[in-house]
Parts: sequence; structure tokens; C-alpha cells
Amino acid sequence: MRPIRREEPLPQLRKALTADCRRCCGLCCAALYRARAEGFPAELPPGRPCPHLDGEYRCAIHGQLTARGLHGCTAYDCLGAGQRAAATSPVDWRRDPEEKRRLFAHFLSLTALHQMLWYLAEAASLLPARPLWEEATQLIGECWALGEESAPLDALQLEQQRARVNRLLRPAHEQTLAAAGGRPSPCQSADYSGRKFRKTVLRGRDFSMALLLGTDLSGCDLWGSSFLGADLRGADLCGADLRGSAFLTPIQLGAARGDEETLLPPFLSRPTSWGRSSGSQ
Ligand code: SF4
Ligand code: SF4
Repeated sequence: MRPIRREEPLPQLRKALTADCRRCCGLCCAALYRARAEGFPAELPPGRPCPHLDGEYRCAIHGQLTARGLHGCTAYDCLGAGQRAAATSPVDWRRDPEEKRRLFAHFLSLTALHQMLWYLAEAASLLPARPLWEEATQLIGECWALGEESAPLDALQLEQQRARVNRLLRPAHEQTLAAAGGRPSPCQSADYSGRKFRKTVLRGRDFSMALLLGTDLSGCDLWGSSFLGADLRGADLCGADLRGSAFLTPIQLGAARGDEETLLPPFLSRPTSWGRSSGSQ
């Protein structure tokens, strides 16, 4: 198989985009909006801590999340925004309402910036997008620096930065598809929910922004396919070859189903919620 990306051109950044809950203080379990319908334990507005968050900022039912069907909890990944925000806080947010407001706002801003950084790291590592390397690394520096500011970015600032990032991601995505013999889908948000692609060669397919709810991609060869912004909830990735796919995120993987035969890009880990046996359930 032809390589589609350089081996970790940005190892420090990849490491910084890996969640480390031991260095955090339960931010995702308190700062975010969590809906029961999305696989969280209750309707929890932003700022309300989950009742299962214990005194040490740990999930008291961590070992039971899958059994309880809390797939929102198992799929969530802050891409390192949690520990980065927590490092700025010298006090316990539960005892200081002012600090809680500041810290949660900072976490939300960092979450958005780290999502941009994740995609930029991917664009910078993809071989077909090599002409964009300089611009990508410049934007990475900018996004990182914006997260260092003491005041969190407001919605407008984040939108402006996201628009700049998206202007680079589009050609990176298109160049990757082209290198794999594919082309951008004419249909934005194509709906493949429930489709059975089982064991099909799907090289260079544009799944960006697509709905892949419960889609059977088991055993598929997805080299050069782009999953930029795709909704993979419940998709079957058992035995799929995703090593050469582009723009996949930990949240997408955590929301899908896979097994020990699913092949992943080197910088992505197998979600702990995935089963061990191969084949569809
Ligand atoms: S915000 Fe991130 S680092 Fe913190 S507990 Fe949640 S997943 Fe872990
Ligand atoms: S159940 Fe656990 S992981 Fe899920 S929101 Fe509550 S504390 Fe966090």
C-alpha cells in the first residue's frame, strides 16, 4: 500500500492533542452540554457537573459506562483541551464560582481550537497536501498561540479562525482524494445511513460531512477516503482498513463500532469501548 502520510511530522503536537484525564479536573463532565439522547446519563446543561463525577474528579461509574449504554461518555474526547485548561487553574473550581466561569469558558475555547489543530495536524501530515505544509504549520502556530491567551476567544473570533482553517482543509481534502483516484462528492452531507458497503473497495471516497449512521463499512478498504466532519455514530468498522484514511478523529471512532481487526492510522488508538470479536453484531 502506498503511504498517504508522513510518519508523525508533528509528534509534539499529536501528543498535546491526546487527552490526559489524570491531569484534568473533570471538565468535560461539568462544562459541556450533555443530552441523554446523545448517550449521556442525564440532561445536563453547561456548567452542571454530572452526578457521577466524584470528589477526585473521576467518573464513579467508569467501568460501567458501556454496560449502561452511555456511549456519549465513552466516545467523547477533548483532544487534550482538558488538561491544558486545567493547567491554568490554581484552585478547585467547585469552591470558586468566579474561577469556575473562567475555567469552563477557557476549556470551551480550547476545545474548539484543539479540534482545528487536530485537522491541521492531519493536513500537514498528508503527503498529497504537501504543498500546503507551510500554511498549515503557520496556522498551527496561530491556533496554539490563541489558546495561550488568558481571555478565552468569543464565538465570533472562533468562527473567524475556523473559517481560515477550513480554507486550508478544503484543498488538503481535495488533493488527498485526487491522489487516491477520487473526487469531491457533488452532494454536501450525503446520507449513507444504514447502507451496506461490507468488504467493498472504497478508495478515494468522499465521506466528508456525510451521514454514516449505522453504515456497514466492515471489511472495507478505505485508503485515501476522507471522513472530514462525517457522522459515524453506530457505523460498523469491524475489520475495515482505515490506515490510509484521512481526517478521522477519536470522537468519530468512539461513536462507531470496531474490533481488533480494524486497522487504524498510527496516531489513533483503538477506543476502549470496541469489542474484541470481528464481524457485525
Ligand atoms: S476534559 Fe478531556 S482530559 Fe478532562 S476529563 Fe474530559 S476527556 Fe479527560
Ligand atoms: S457518567 Fe462519568 S464520564 Fe459520563 S458525564 Fe458522568 S462523570 Fe463524566
